[in-house]
Amino acid sequence: MLNIVLFGPPGAGKGTQAVKLIDQYKLVHLSTGDILRSELAAETKLGLKAKRYMDRGELVPDEVVIGMIETKLDQNPDAKGFIFDGFPRTQAQARALDNLLSGKNTAITTMLALEVEKQELIQRLMGRGKVSGRADDQDISVIENRITVYNRETSPVIDYYEGQGKFKAVNGMGSIEEIFDRLCSAIDSI
Ligand code: ADP
Repeated sequence: MLNIVLFGPPGAGKGTQAVKLIDQYKLVHLSTGDILRSELAAETKLGLKAKRYMDRGELVPDEVVIGMIETKLDQNPDAKGFIFDGFPRTQAQARALDNLLSGKNTAITTMLALEVEKQELIQRLMGRGKVSGRADDQDISVIENRITVYNRETSPVIDYYEGQGKFKAVNGMGSIEEIFDRLCSAIDSI
């Protein structure tokens, strides 16, 4: 299987690139942000629990997102591989993902980390907020908090995969096509 962790700060372009990568490599896209937003839209118990964290730019508790990923893995037994987008966001989530995958006799192949300057991130998120209607993209203090939470809680996930020899940095500045080509080269060089 080809199992990729697509990593990077909020606004790095993970969702945009994930859609192109699943088409190119025939993978299943698992975005915890997308799953949470659809739970929220359907007003499920899980969605309502997650809302107060998402609105503030805080992380939803680990057990909630880990349970969601477990369900999605079970629902796709014939997948050729997965792109994990927005997950894992803590080292505890990364360990849980390793356990879930080893229970299915597979593992993470690589972590591709998109690197983008902070000013560019803020510009992209504010721009997205105007068209997506996402409340967490429309408030500068929530955006700043998401970047702070990323630096504090999520960036240590890099060390986790670096320790396994699976970390690859990818320049996330430039056009969508340029960045896609860099990601494909990183995958094809494995
Ligand atoms: P972005 O990467 O643009 O910040 P996402 O769509 O990935 O946006 O996530 C939106 C929000 O959903 C996050 O700010 C967080 O509250 C919650 N969330 C998504 N994935 C996770 C996760 N793996 N762990 C905890 N919370 C998460």
